[in-house]
Amino acid sequence: MNLPIIFSIDDDPQVLRSISRDLKIKYSKEYKILSTSSAQEALDMLTELKNSADVVALFLCDQRMPEMEGVEFLEKAMLIYPDAKRVLLTAYSDTEAAIKAINEVKLDYYLIKPWDPPEDKLYPVINDLLDDWQSDYIPEFKGIRVVGFQFSPLSHVVKDYLASNLIPYRWMDIQTNPDAANLLSINKLTNDDLPMLLLDDGTFLTKPSIKEIAAKIGKNPEIVHDMYDVVIIGAGPAGLAAAVYGASEGLKTLMIERKAPGGQAGTSSRIENYLGFPSGLSGADLTRRAISQAVRLGAGFLSPQSVSDIKQKDGYKTIVLEDGPEIISRSVIITTGVDYRKLEVKGVAELTGAGIYYGAATTEAAACRDKNVYIIGGGNSAGQAAMYLSKFACNVHIVIRKDDLTSTMSSYLIDQIGHTPNIHVLGNTEVIEAKGDGCLEKLVLINVKTKETREEEASALYIFIGAKPYTDWLKLDILKDEKGFIETGRELRNYENFKKTWKLKRDPFLLETSCAGIFAAGDVRSGAMNRVASAVGEGSMAISFVHKYLAEV
Ligand SMILES: Cc1cc2nc3c(=O)[nH]c(=O)nc-3n(C[C@H](O)[C@H](O)[C@H](O)COP(=O)(O)OP(=O)(O)OC[C@H]3O[C@@H](n4cnc5c(N)ncnc54)[C@H](O)[C@@H]3O)c2cc1C
Repeated sequence: MNLPIIFSIDDDPQVLRSISRDLKIKYSKEYKILSTSSAQEALDMLTELKNSADVVALFLCDQRMPEMEGVEFLEKAMLIYPDAKRVLLTAYSDTEAAIKAINEVKLDYYLIKPWDPPEDKLYPVINDLLDDWQSDYIPEFKGIRVVGFQFSPLSHVVKDYLASNLIPYRWMDIQTNPDAANLLSINKLTNDDLPMLLLDDGTFLTKPSIKEIAAKIGKNPEIVHDMYDVVIIGAGPAGLAAAVYGASEGLKTLMIERKAPGGQAGTSSRIENYLGFPSGLSGADLTRRAISQAVRLGAGFLSPQSVSDIKQKDGYKTIVLEDGPEIISRSVIITTGVDYRKLEVKGVAELTGAGIYYGAATTEAAACRDKNVYIIGGGNSAGQAAMYLSKFACNVHIVIRKDDLTSTMSSYLIDQIGHTPNIHVLGNTEVIEAKGDGCLEKLVLINVKTKETREEEASALYIFIGAKPYTDWLKLDILKDEKGFIETGRELRNYENFKKTWKLKRDPFLLETSCAGIFAAGDVRSGAMNRVASAVGEGSMAISFVHKYLAEV
């Protein structure tokens, strides 16, 4: 945390020098002493200081200055730092102006020059004012701040990117936080420029893409090898496990991720069934441990970057990025997992990111405080989200088509939900419309048995209605099942086209796709178990098949 600032402004260099000297002697351990001879320069500096979350505790400003009078300067400075204490330096003849300023700029004190000796005339006054300021002072958050509208899809994307990459930030809602409006106006921006992302060096981005954010915060790693032994596409549990084993077993390993490490598991508020964690662990915690382990062992990590295709030539694989150079590898593991299935209901597409979210229970939970929220889905992910949101919302309603949760959710979660009075399960119910002007306000529900409809106030809707595999990007002829999941191993023999593409004498390895040297692991694979542990198991197994494959080429 930076020291709070005492800022003095006087156009007379001699006076400025002596005030700076006296302030430094007494206060430089606890305060940063800044001074300038130009009021305009001081105002420019204040904007930079505000952007970098520095705090001014006290202004000491001369009344008679050529650019503007001290009172006018204090009036402008007040808009940026309303809580700073204000002292006017005056000559005897200016006392009338100073007295007037007591009301105009809520002046705390006027000090008649000269103030010798400072022990008698300066320090007692300043001490008193600083004590008073300290008693109300709450240190500013030092780090990334995001200014935006709560119900803006663009703001949600920025918050979600930072949260899923485990980057701490402070959210500043333009509609409820006066400091947010202040930051906007001192930088001469308007609501159209939001979201605004401020870094602690005082620089900022407006309406940033996640690539721009990554570049700004130094998360743009480089491709260091001309050729990799294995490239892993997707950094969910399967990809992370493959990266840990690949790197630890001496393979030149690169993992590419379109958004943030952790995948679906990274969005989970509490994973209770992962081996070795008896009281459960959050997806964020698991991700933090896994990504640091993979990188420490030497795996490269390229993110945010989407793979848009894989090409094969002479046994080498070329990984084509959405934007960026092509990467050559001897083998590939596809661990792209699954994407949330979209709810095709009137109003949902328009309000997605503005009160309606897919799997964003942890990112937007704080905004649900004391509100009524709805969840669609009866699986474990919906159950975990309900438990997490129940700590914030006044009521959490789980909407399911079936009578109850018994056939779709684990019994430990059903028990927890049963013991949480503010979670309500709405059986035999569907959402048929979402309504709202700019953000979600109401949901229309139907009882699927009686066909009765009703409208309910809703501040948020979280959708967990299953998933489809992330395989649309693959143009290479890799065999997939009828739902788009990648087929591997012995099952491939059941496909008519298999013989056309597979030209080796041996059968494909257990996790190998119809293209030799390209493997699939985790939820993206046909027949996957959809568990963190099985994805981790498959990711690590895939590396042993990579070794076998590399030994034969
Ligand atoms: C909310 C929630 C809670 C869950 N809770 C549990 C639990 O308690 N216990 C349990 O065992 N399981 C749980 N699961 C299931 C578990 O998280 C998944 O089975 C597991 O994450 C699958 O891992 P994966 O690596 O195969 O795929 P994913 O986790 O889906 O990861 C795939 C990754 O690939 C990336 N990707 C996709 N396409 C591309 C591309 N073209 N280029 C680059 N990157 C790409 C994605 O962004 C993603 O990060 C939960 C799932 C959810 C959604």
